[in-house]
Amino acid sequence: MIVFNQVNKFYGDFQVLKDINLTINQGEVVVVIGPSGSGKSTLLRCINHLETISDGTLTVNGISVGDKKTDINKLRRNIGMVFQHFYLYPHKTVLENITLAPMKALGQSEKEAKETARHYLEKVGILDKAESYPSQLSGGQQQRVAIARGLAMKPEIMLFDEPTSALDPEMIGEVLDVMKTLAREGMTMVVVTHEMGFAREVADRIVFMDAGRILEEAVPAEFYENPREERARLFLSRIL
Ligand code: ADP
Ligand code: MG
Repeated sequence: MIVFNQVNKFYGDFQVLKDINLTINQGEVVVVIGPSGSGKSTLLRCINHLETISDGTLTVNGISVGDKKTDINKLRRNIGMVFQHFYLYPHKTVLENITLAPMKALGQSEKEAKETARHYLEKVGILDKAESYPSQLSGGQQQRVAIARGLAMKPEIMLFDEPTSALDPEMIGEVLDVMKTLAREGMTMVVVTHEMGFAREVADRIVFMDAGRILEEAVPAEFYENPREERARLFLSRIL
C-alpha cells in the first residue's frame, strides 16, 4: 500500500532522508522510532505529500506521490493524519471540526456529515462532547476528536506523528486505546511513537531511524529484546 523505493530527500544541502526502502502492506501497523531529528516526521509527511521527495519513488495505493500528474487532493483524502498538536479549529464545535472536510472535500450533505461525525465520536468515546468547543476538552479528548476527524474522511491509511507526546500521562492511555482498536480493525497505520506498550501490542513491525536512514526493521519482540544495531540499543537504553 505504501512503497518507498530508494527515496532521498534534501532540505537545501542537508539530507534528511537517505536511501529509504520501505514497504507497508494493507492492514499493517508500522511503528517508527528513533532519535529526535532522525527524519521520522519527514518520512511520514512525504506519504501524503506534505513534503516532496528529492529522488527515488514513493507510491501509495499504486499512485506515484511525486508525479506531477497525481491528484494530491485525491491522494490526501485517502490518508488521515494525526499530529502531536491537534490543530482543531478553536472557534468551531467538535462536530463542526469533524464535518468540515467531508462536506468540503467529499461533498457530503450536512446531515450525512453529522451522522458520520457522530458515528466516529462514539467510536472514540466522546459523543457527549459533540457540541463542545476544543478549549472545553482535555488534551486526550481533543486528540480523540482529531482522530475522529481523520476517520470521518474514511481513509485507507492513518498516519500518526507522536500523537501522545503532548499529553499529560493520565491521558495517553485513552488515545492509545482508540489507536489499538483501529489497528485491530485492520487499518493500515504508520505511527511515530515511543510508546513501547502500544508498539509491542499492535505493531507488526518496528522501523528504527537514525540520521535519515532506516537502520533496523524488526518485529517488536525481536527489536525490543534484542536489537541488532548498536545505535538502536543505545537509543532504547535512553528511552526505557
Ligand atoms: P524527527 O521527526 O525524527 O524529529 P524531522 O523529520 O522533523 O525529524 O527532521 C529531521 C531533520 O530535518 C532535522 O534535523 C530537522 O531540523 C530537519 N528539518 C525538518 N524540517 C525541515 C525544513 N523544513 N527545513 C530544513 N530542515 C528541516
Ligand atoms: Mg518529529
